[in-house]
Order: sequence, then structure tokens, then C-alpha cells
Amino acid sequence: MARGPRPRPRTPRAGPAPTGEAASAGIMRGVTPPASPPPADLDRDDPACAERLIAAARAVRRHAYAPYSGFAVGAALLDEHGRVHVGCNVENAAYPQGLCAEAAAIGALVAGGGRRIVAAAIVAVSARAALPVMPCGGCRQRLRELAAPNLRIWLADEREVLGERRLGDLLPESFGPSDVGRTGPAS
Ligand SMILES: [Zn+2]
Repeated sequence: MARGPRPRPRTPRAGPAPTGEAASAGIMRGVTPPASPPPADLDRDDPACAERLIAAARAVRRHAYAPYSGFAVGAALLDEHGRVHVGCNVENAAYPQGLCAEAAAIGALVAGGGRRIVAAAIVAVSARAALPVMPCGGCRQRLRELAAPNLRIWLADEREVLGERRLGDLLPESFGPSDVGRTGPAS
């Protein structure tokens, strides 16, 4: 196979810090965002939105790595492009290094190009029968970074929907991006 000269890798040029929309989208210097996002596959106003997010959270919950607690959690997040991102908890022998399902899903959302969480579902089975499992305090704050206080969070177990909450109810009077001068997710 003939080999021509290798194209010189393009190195990002240093430039001014992102401002306006780029800054609010969390786009880093030297990184070019995709020209257009993939087509949406779900709308948060779709009557089937809750059902589909919960189904996605149930499915990913089966992949949870929880050998220490045995407590499996699945989370599904809808981004501003209508795409669904999922995550499950990943425990670690060094316990504090474990990762919550919500945190894993947020990582997937950001890695997939999302910058907003517009709807969420969390699936787990509480030891207190038929009571919803709430996101932990840390994950409430993690969700707040990319979601407005009116974010709907559906809570379910393997059989039924056990409740719905607004992020603002779980994390009232929250600290968020606007407190440090950044444009936060709008309601
Ligand atoms: Zn958590």
C-alpha cells in the first residue's frame, strides 16, 4: 500500500475564553462542537416520556456493579436534544470511590454532547417496600448543574412508578451555576 505524506495533525489554537452561548454550553477552548446534534428520539412533553425513561433505567439497572451493597440502581436522563442517556451504580472495594447511577448517567449525557437534563428517571428497590428511592444529596447537586429546579424526576421500582418529584423540591434554595456567574439551565 502506497504511503503518502501523513496529514499534519491539527492542533487547537489558543484563543480567548468562550463567551456567550459557547460558555453557557460548557464548550472548552480549542474544542469544536458537533455541527448539529443527532435527531431527537424523545420529547419531555411526550406522554410516553416517563414510561420510556423508566424502561431505560430498569434496563441499565441490570448492569449495576454492586457486589458490596447488593443495591442496584439505574438512571436515565433526557437531554435537550431528545436523547436518552443511562447509567448504573458502580461500586468499588475502596467504598468512597463508588459511583452513583445518576452520576454515571450525567457523565454519559455530557460525553454524548448533552448540556441540559430535561427529564429524569431513577429505578431502585427500597428495603422499605413500595417507597421510592431518592437520589442522594450529592447527586441532587450534580443534577442541579445541568437541570433547572423544575426538572421532573420519576421514581420507580421494577414493577411500578412510585412517585414523581421536582428537583427543586429535593434540593430547595439550591446553589447553582448562576451563583458563580454562569448561565444556568432555565426552567
Ligand atoms: Zn448519588
